[in-house]
Amino acid sequence: MQKRDILIVGQGLAGSLLALELEKRGKKVMILDNNPTVSSSKVAAGLYNPITGRKMVKTWLADELFPNLSNYYQALEKKMDARFHFSKTIYRPFNNIEEQNDWSLRTVELGYAPYIKSTFNHSMRIDQLLDPLGGFSVNDSGMVDVATLVSKCKKYFKTKELYTQCRMPSDALEMEEEKIKLGPFEAHQIIFCEGPMAVKNPLWSDLKFKLVKGEILDISCRLAIDYVVSKGIFMLPFKDYFRVGSTYDNQNQNEEPTDKGRRELLTRLSKLYKGNLEVLKHQAGLRPATFDRRPFVGFHAKHKNVGIFNGFGSKGVSLIPYFAMRLADHICFGKKIPFEVNPIR
Ligand SMILES: Cc1cc2nc3c(=O)[nH]c(=O)nc-3n(C[C@H](O)[C@H](O)[C@H](O)COP(=O)(O)OP(=O)(O)OC[C@H]3O[C@@H](n4cnc5c(N)ncnc54)[C@H](O)[C@@H]3O)c2cc1C
Repeated sequence: MQKRDILIVGQGLAGSLLALELEKRGKKVMILDNNPTVSSSKVAAGLYNPITGRKMVKTWLADELFPNLSNYYQALEKKMDARFHFSKTIYRPFNNIEEQNDWSLRTVELGYAPYIKSTFNHSMRIDQLLDPLGGFSVNDSGMVDVATLVSKCKKYFKTKELYTQCRMPSDALEMEEEKIKLGPFEAHQIIFCEGPMAVKNPLWSDLKFKLVKGEILDISCRLAIDYVVSKGIFMLPFKDYFRVGSTYDNQNQNEEPTDKGRRELLTRLSKLYKGNLEVLKHQAGLRPATFDRRPFVGFHAKHKNVGIFNGFGSKGVSLIPYFAMRLADHICFGKKIPFEVNPIR
C-alpha cells in the first residue's frame, strides 16, 4: 500500500489547481486521471471576464476573484516554466440603442468603475468588424490556455511522482471511518474532481448537475486586432488564428462536433465580422454546470472523508483558483467554506 494524505480523482483544471494548493500546504497527494483526448479543460476557450451576459453585469464574486487572478496564473507560469496566461482586453459591442443607454447607467453604478476600461459611443472603425453603435471594453480580463496549463501540470506531477494514469472505477473504493483505500493507495481523504464525468459516479447521484455542451471553432481571418471581441459569440485572437465560440446546448450530452453547431457559430459570427475566413479546427466538449449555477465544493453528507470539487460550468478559469484555495484551507486549517457552494446545501 502506498500511503498518501489525499487522493485526487481527475486532473483537469480543478484537480490540478486543488492538488497544487494542497501540496503548497504540505499535503502528500496522489492524482488519478484517465487522460482523455477530450475533456472540458482540453477544449475550453479559457476566457475570464468580470462583466458578462446579455445584461452586462458583474459576475458572481467578481470583486473577490478578479483583482488577483492574473497574478495567480503568472505565478503558476513561473512554477511550471511555461506560458499559458494572456491578459487580454475584451471589447463588447452594443447590440442596440437600448443596450447603449443601459450601459451609460451602469457606468455610474457603484462598484463597476474598476472593471471599465473605455466606453465608445461610435464604431471603432476596424476594417471588417461590425460594431456600428460602439461598445465598451473591460479591465481584469484575459485568457488562459487551459489545455497547455493542464499538460504542464501533468508533467510536473509526474516528475514528482504524484500522478497515476488510470480510470478510477467507482466500485473500487473502500471507505472506512478514518481512511480510504483505492487499488494500491491508502489515504485519509479522497476528493473527486471529475468534471462532467461526475454524473456517472453513484456517490454524487443526489447532486443536480446540468451538463452543457459547447462547440468551438479555430478560424483564420484577416481581422487585425489583439483584443477579444464578444457579442453573443466571442472572437479570441490566439497564436496566429482566432478562436470562436461557443454554443450552449443542454440537450445533447456528448462531445461530438456537429454541422448544426458549426452553422450556428458561423451565422452568429457573420453579425460581428464580415470578411472571408477559413475554419481550421472544430471541437466540442461538455461544461460541468449545475442547476443553481454554483459549484460543489466540500464533503459528502454520509462519507466525511469523501469530497467533491466540481460544477464550475463555463467559469472554471476564474472560479477554480479561488475555490481551490478555499477548499485547501478548509482541509488543512478547518476554515469555513461558504454554504452556497456546499454540496449538501
Ligand atoms: C466549449 C467550451 C468552452 C469553454 N470556455 C470556457 C471559457 O472561456 N472560460 C472558462 O472559464 N471556462 C470555459 N469552459 C469551462 C471549463 O472548461 C470548465 O469549467 C473546466 O475546464 C472544468 O474543469 P474540471 O477539471 O472540473 O473538468 P475536466 O476538465 O473535465 O477534468 C476532469 C478530469 O477528470 C478525469 N476523470 C473523471 N472521472 C475520472 C475517473 N473516475 N477516473 C480517472 N479520471 C477521471 C477526466 O477524464 C478529466 O481529465 C468551457 C468549456 C467548454 C466545453
